[in-house]
Amino acid sequence: MAPVASDSLQAEAAPAEAASALNGKKHATANGHAPVHTKLGFATRALHVGSEPSSETGAVIPAISLSTTFKQDGVGNHKGFEYSRSGNPNRDAFERAIASLEGGAHGLAFSSGSAVTSTILSSLPPHAHVVSVNDVYGGTHRYFTRVANVAQHIETTFVDMDSDDALEQRLQDAVRPQSTKLVWIETPTNPTLRLVDIARVSALVKRLAPDARVVVDNTFLSPWYQQPLALGADIVVHSVTKYLNGHSDVVMGVAVTSDEAVAERLRFLQNAIGAVPSAFDCWLALRGVKTLAVRMKQHGHNALQVARWLEKSTLIESVIYPGLPSHASHAIARKQIHPQAVALSADGPVAAAGLGLPYGGMLSFRFASSPDSDVASSAFLASLRIFTLAESLGGVESLVELPSKMTHGGLTNEQRRALGIGHNFIRISVGLEEPADLIADLEQALLKAAKASAAVAAGGDW
Ligand SMILES: *Cc1c(COP(=O)(O)O)cnc(C)c1O
Repeated sequence: MAPVASDSLQAEAAPAEAASALNGKKHATANGHAPVHTKLGFATRALHVGSEPSSETGAVIPAISLSTTFKQDGVGNHKGFEYSRSGNPNRDAFERAIASLEGGAHGLAFSSGSAVTSTILSSLPPHAHVVSVNDVYGGTHRYFTRVANVAQHIETTFVDMDSDDALEQRLQDAVRPQSTKLVWIETPTNPTLRLVDIARVSALVKRLAPDARVVVDNTFLSPWYQQPLALGADIVVHSVTKYLNGHSDVVMGVAVTSDEAVAERLRFLQNAIGAVPSAFDCWLALRGVKTLAVRMKQHGHNALQVARWLEKSTLIESVIYPGLPSHASHAIARKQIHPQAVALSADGPVAAAGLGLPYGGMLSFRFASSPDSDVASSAFLASLRIFTLAESLGGVESLVELPSKMTHGGLTNEQRRALGIGHNFIRISVGLEEPADLIADLEQALLKAAKASAAVAAGGDW
């Protein structure tokens, strides 16, 4: 059993801890380090929670602890670790850091984002019912419909969670008060970047099915921009593979909750199922998290500049970025964004001019051409020099992809049409390169796309 994920390091969501932080009361962490308490800012906690200097050696950076087992001074008398699947120092450090950043009491790390989904679903009884946002990550949809359904007879109802007048009715129709145990939200969705009002859905769910837990997949925004627990969610999950690690070199996942019963069950399953990350991956991911605040600010800044530039192009039918005033759910973005991220944009010239706000690094757009044609998309993707054509997202380098044939290639034509993902639809993960270089790269590739389209329109061979 890992040491109790040191409550002293948790953030504002735990009232008792916040109170003791105010009182200046000292807590000791599992390793006896001085606590980094809750009143500290996000960037400070990202750097110091889980990275307390070693009381043994003074090392400022945690050592990588590869030992699979830990000496006991007498039977059951140990320093918090017994066997590395159940808990180890590097995983414990990472779990404490993310719990602190999400404002939760408990963090639980897994070998991938998909392993988080699998472990949470494994916590449900057979024949349980799940309600999920319809535009959910493909792997999550696959797990609900082809694993949980087959192995546990779990049924999932997919619901459009757009925040319109009919939302309450749609949820009421979907929820089964007796058997709905889980409501799964993802916001923004992938790749169409629709937003769900987490507070509104959580409140409705609490009324319709008091037993159901609300899960939010926070992969696309990270706790810098969005902290679902404070908005009413019970569990927040991440593919650490994306922004939390941020360097495209670790596959990992994490769940955070302040619900003691949920935490206890997930801790049990984390050990029992054993889909746990390696000590080295935890070490790398914690290293990535140290720069989360600066990375996310810059991702948002760069993406907003790119989005605003793309909006001016006549070759493009629509740019989808929730930080743009033109986005259908821009009001939800403004309401739901964590104040720390707004404070940043308020003193930037872009926000001051009322031209949008940084809201993560993901954006999508559609070429002004038929959704059945990939002529413009193909020429565009082949011409980019800085953007790398690849799946995944959230790394420091810019990536671009064609969802219809890559990440969402597994959907039927009908499903893709319903979601608006044609062959003219491009998804970009805006990295940390100079925005001017990114825009110049997009500009030259868009010209090639225009030429290709014109050549086809003229029936010429090009
Ligand atoms: C990538 C991703 C996942 C799955 O995570 P893995 O680490 O790839 O298993 C889940 N949700 C979202 C939103 C993702 O982008």
